[in-house]
Amino acid sequence: MELKLRYYGDPILREEAADVEDFDEELFEQAAAMIETMVRERGIGLAGPQVGLRKKILIALKMADLDDSDADPVVVVNPEILERSRDTWVYEEGCLSIPGVNGDVTRSEKIKLRYQDVGGAEHVIEASGMFARILLHEIDHLHGKLFIDYLSTARKSLLKPKLNEISKTYNG
Ligand code: ZN
Repeated sequence: MELKLRYYGDPILREEAADVEDFDEELFEQAAAMIETMVRERGIGLAGPQVGLRKKILIALKMADLDDSDADPVVVVNPEILERSRDTWVYEEGCLSIPGVNGDVTRSEKIKLRYQDVGGAEHVIEASGMFARILLHEIDHLHGKLFIDYLSTARKSLLKPKLNEISKTYNG
């Protein structure tokens, strides 16, 4: 299964994804293809809508720290954030769907998350640091939200020509 990346300007990136109800062979194949796509594109996370899937599924590298790019990918289905720490940290994020654009985003240091794996089993985990940040970024995608939405108005207006260019280049 070949999945194609979707880029800024594609309406699917602004849609709410649907809950996954069938934990079938198709879901398993889609998860495997998402991991392949993420590795090929050198990403550290990937959400369903970014590859045209309107479902609550995402891949996140379980990075212990900022340099831990050998970390294993985790498949997260139907995630629900149970708790977010009040402690936050700022880091410059990017997104495979918005190539060449970066910006500082403030996110919770720790989260408590409930999700299902690709077989449907339920898990409750605590994540912190980079892993928590990736999860939060990808969960936003499932709700049609992008990291650029967090940037200041000034930064957003500076990026506007670049964003318009991405939208035109990739979406015709
Ligand atoms: Zn993204």
